[in-house]
Amino acid sequence: MSQRTFSIIKPDAVRKGHTGGILAEIEKAGFKIAAIKRQSISKDQAKGFYHVHSARPFFDGLTTFMSSGPIVLLVLEKENAIADLRKLMGATNPANAEEGTIRKKFASSIEENAIHGSDAEDTAAFEIGYWFAGYELL
Ligand code: ATP
Ligand code: MG
Repeated sequence: MSQRTFSIIKPDAVRKGHTGGILAEIEKAGFKIAAIKRQSISKDQAKGFYHVHSARPFFDGLTTFMSSGPIVLLVLEKENAIADLRKLMGATNPANAEEGTIRKKFASSIEENAIHGSDAEDTAAFEIGYWFAGYELL
């Protein structure tokens, strides 16, 4: 059965002109782009999005980084979308990312790691609803 996941092309990748390259990898891997928009987000919006990490030492840096420039918000659809996108992204730290993954190709550090992807069904549902209105998901 087809599944939806949520993804962000992070500010580092947008800044470096990797938006098209990352979208190409995503489509090549069989994902359908169900919704897409480019926008800049506030630090408060980033904090709400990453609330599960609010107690972590990197929270302030992470939310400052995510609000440092335009990002691309995506809803992606395919069978097994959530797990397959995580696989395509590669490890959080690009130093540990496998060959052929998006983070191996486009990320420069554990913080500036090019892409976000939901890690489970419940977080995908929260994240899609956080950034997209129902009418944008028809
Ligand atoms: P994302 O949620 O962005 O898809 P992830 O699921 O691979 O990434 P998480 O553990 O959810 O990793 O961490 C969220 C983000 O916080 C990471 O993508 C990274 O940018 C940042 N981060 C995680 N761990 C660290 C760390 N030790 N130092 C600095 N930043 C970190
Ligand atoms: Mg995560």
